[in-house]
Amino acid sequence: MDKKKDPDYIAKLEKAIEKKYGSEAIQNPRKYWDEEKEKEYLQQLKIMAENQRVIDEKNEKVEVDGVFISKKLLTRKSEKRICPVCSAYSFEIKDDIYMRKFDCCYECYIEMAVTERENRRKVRLETKQ
Ligand SMILES: [Zn+2]
Repeated sequence: MDKKKDPDYIAKLEKAIEKKYGSEAIQNPRKYWDEEKEKEYLQQLKIMAENQRVIDEKNEKVEVDGVFISKKLLTRKSEKRICPVCSAYSFEIKDDIYMRKFDCCYECYIEMAVTERENRRKVRLETKQ
């Protein structure tokens, strides 16, 4: 189920916000809130949503290439599918993991890793001379 539509989830969020900002914030946000608080509130929501997501992800894991990742992550629709580096469009699970971890597809990651290694080696060679 979409967490945003889950009534329990909203209730939990409100409870947490109430704890932090006082009950007035829930009952009459306009009166007590300014832009700064609104920003803080949104930030708070994001953090809580993220925490909830992490908890959910821990519940169900599958192994892909020796790495345990959440089954939910693999099936999430909003998942990034286009590599920002090479613009490749991929549905491969492997690319999914690298996209999430390194913000690029598997091939780009390898490419970057190799380039970085070569650069390091070059630096080492140069300093030896
Ligand atoms: Zn790529």
